[in-house]
Amino acid sequence: MSQSAGEDSPLEVAIVGCGIVGLITAAGLARRRIKVTIFEQGQGLRELGTGIAFNPAAQGCLEMIDPEVTMALRMGGAVGLSAANEDDPHDCLRWIDGYNQRDKSDPYYQKYYLKTNAGYRGIQGIRRDHLLEQLIRVLPSDTVVFKKRLEDVVEGGDDEKIVLKFADGTVAEADAVIGCDGIKSKTRNIVLGPDSTAGKPTYTHVNSYPTVIPMEKAVSALGERKARAFHNHLGPDANILHYPVAHGTMCNVTVFVRNDEEWPQDKPTALVGQRADIEHRFRDWNPAIRDLISHLPETLPTWAVFDLWDYPLPFYNKGRICVAGDAAHASSPHHGAGAGMGVEDALVLSVLMADASMKLGKGKLSKSQVISSAFAVYNDIRRTRSQWLVQSSRRICDLHQQKEWADPTKWLKAESTLEELKDRTYKIWNYDFRQMVAEATESYGMLISR
Ligand code: FAD
Repeated sequence: MSQSAGEDSPLEVAIVGCGIVGLITAAGLARRRIKVTIFEQGQGLRELGTGIAFNPAAQGCLEMIDPEVTMALRMGGAVGLSAANEDDPHDCLRWIDGYNQRDKSDPYYQKYYLKTNAGYRGIQGIRRDHLLEQLIRVLPSDTVVFKKRLEDVVEGGDDEKIVLKFADGTVAEADAVIGCDGIKSKTRNIVLGPDSTAGKPTYTHVNSYPTVIPMEKAVSALGERKARAFHNHLGPDANILHYPVAHGTMCNVTVFVRNDEEWPQDKPTALVGQRADIEHRFRDWNPAIRDLISHLPETLPTWAVFDLWDYPLPFYNKGRICVAGDAAHASSPHHGAGAGMGVEDALVLSVLMADASMKLGKGKLSKSQVISSAFAVYNDIRRTRSQWLVQSSRRICDLHQQKEWADPTKWLKAESTLEELKDRTYKIWNYDFRQMVAEATESYGMLISR
């Protein structure tokens, strides 16, 4: 990417937050020669070395945002989630019994419940830290400013700049602000207003333990075929999934356990967890799963999972400010599609901002009209689908962790609900993102020419 991308742009965009969605949105804008700056509160890139996967719709959007982002995935070691199976080059997700031991002659036997097929390289997994390192290289070198914690945004008159105020007392100016500042978003508060009850994160009663282990260890517990392909092992009140990352040299393992207790408001949501606790929770599970758990590090990250399910946002925009990614629709991770949904946001925003940039100075409309109309269209196009993900992710967790898995008389009942899981998964994967873009540009054209 050239150092001067966006220098001649009539539109300056500020992005708050340098997570996955902020960086990808910036790549889409820079690709379209729009001047963009990311303001990040942290001292540097913040992601851990745990895995993240991009579904077919998200990958299609990434390619339209900027083919260099697709390249960044490759350079960062992305691999198909189950492409290592020689007899099936497609990436398939497999849901499998992790708990019941139905074949007493083979305690390691696990029944396969469901398979969904994402096609060749349909789902790719990558370590988060590797992804961010590659994404930042796609951008002009001065794009990201660290140690800038947003505190307030003040919108000026029609053609005046917006002023961003930071915790260190400094300010910055932009024509438009996109808040990609995650579940605890400050930008969201500004968009919704101080009296709003919407956008309050609540506890999903699930804790996750994400980690990576060397692939040989996963293979020794699960065997080649299982270890090198995505599997989601289901049981009562918990599930555990794994897939290859880092060119297949590492296995990303995430454990999800239900916690019926409330999460105190002042307790941090990111803690250090103990393998011993996981071993205790999974003591009655299939021995293959217990073997896998024995290879997890003694201590590992634990995240209390919060989402925006209880208090969804009624809108994602206010004037020339909007929110995207988790700031707009933080979901629990059971579909593995939260970032993918943010990537869809990023594509619409990139295209609409490019249209807005072309309109500026060519008619009688003010900057404010041109940009706020683009954000209004973004809100119309993105809100319903992305909020559905928040709701559906909760539902998926309930299906994964049914108490019925522990009761042999209810096994069949539990299994028959998984058909729903397939429908919900394909709704995400088979999304017509090209149609989304066409609708967005058409709506914007109509709105702006009125
Ligand atoms: P974040 O990653 O939260 O980034 C927000 C950034 O904003 C941070 O860098 C933060 O420091 C910064 N910030 C916050 N406040 C301010 C401020 N006031 N001023 C300046 N900067 C600020 N999704 C998938 O698509 N596929 C998966 O496989 C997947 N797996 C998951 C597994 C787990 C266990 C979990 C918990 C989630 C998973 N997700 C997955 C969801 C995905 O991780 C999130 O949707 C995604 O990371 C959100 O990215 P974001 O950029 O919107 O927000």
